[in-house]
Amino acid sequence: MQRFAGKTAVVTGGGRGIGGAIAMAFAAEGAKVAVVSRSESSCGKSAEEINAAYPGAAKAYAIDVADHEAVQELGKTIIADFGNVNILVNNAGVTRDGLLMRMKEEDWDTVLDTNLKGAFNTVKAFMRTLMKAEDPRIINIASVIGLIGNAGQANYAASKAGLIGFTKSVAKELSGRAVTCNAVAPGFITTDMTGELPEKVREEILKNIPLSSFGEVADIASAVLFLASKEARYITGQVLAVDGGMTM
Ligand code: NDP
Repeated sequence: MQRFAGKTAVVTGGGRGIGGAIAMAFAAEGAKVAVVSRSESSCGKSAEEINAAYPGAAKAYAIDVADHEAVQELGKTIIADFGNVNILVNNAGVTRDGLLMRMKEEDWDTVLDTNLKGAFNTVKAFMRTLMKAEDPRIINIASVIGLIGNAGQANYAASKAGLIGFTKSVAKELSGRAVTCNAVAPGFITTDMTGELPEKVREEILKNIPLSSFGEVADIASAVLFLASKEARYITGQVLAVDGGMTM
């Protein structure tokens, strides 16, 4: 299926993990993809893999999404390179876990600046272009932790809950221009981010997942592509949990 032929998608954190899968899935369905991540090597490798499968589909951009000015410049570059942007996926995210007693100010700031301010920065950079684009979509990757909280992740939970509030506000502000804005809240998905969990913790988590397994990056990519599709035009301001039933 070529649901996204003629469209351009910007995917932050597209260097690996969930963002890498989202970027590849868009290219597989005909989109051009701007792969944005922190390090040159990561987004470069991801874009190379996409171009090997779908020649000319991807371009890599190394940037820190927390840097407001740099993201505004990046917006201009991407719009000049592709001519249009129809879809923005805010997926770049980090964790700096620790109980509040031990959490440093820097751990709080890094997580909020990347996960929440990063989305503000990109929306500011692309909103004018999106407002003029065909089937414009913003999709923010939140987390079930933003819905239910988690001991040891106060910074991460606050960033993701904030991202959900941001999503609904953007949906309301941009609805007049037919830009939809939704969030996907993944449960536990197998990536580098969850790869470091000790076996005991994994076992405990699995007890709370009705479908009895961690999710795969493809599970998130297919939800994102649905929300980005023409078929999802009447859905906005929603949070779609893709979590094996964890939060039902
Ligand atoms: P990974 O750690 O595997 O990948 C994170 C990606 O984000 C990388 O490409 C990384 O860049 C990029 N990134 C991180 N910080 C910045 C920054 N400041 N500027 C630009 N890019 C940045 O994460 P996942 O794939 O597991 O997670 C992706 C998203 O999904 C995150 O928002 C995460 O919070 C969310 N999520 C993940 C879950 C899971 O179980 N894995 C569950 C719920 C939500 P680089 O490669 O250059 O380092």
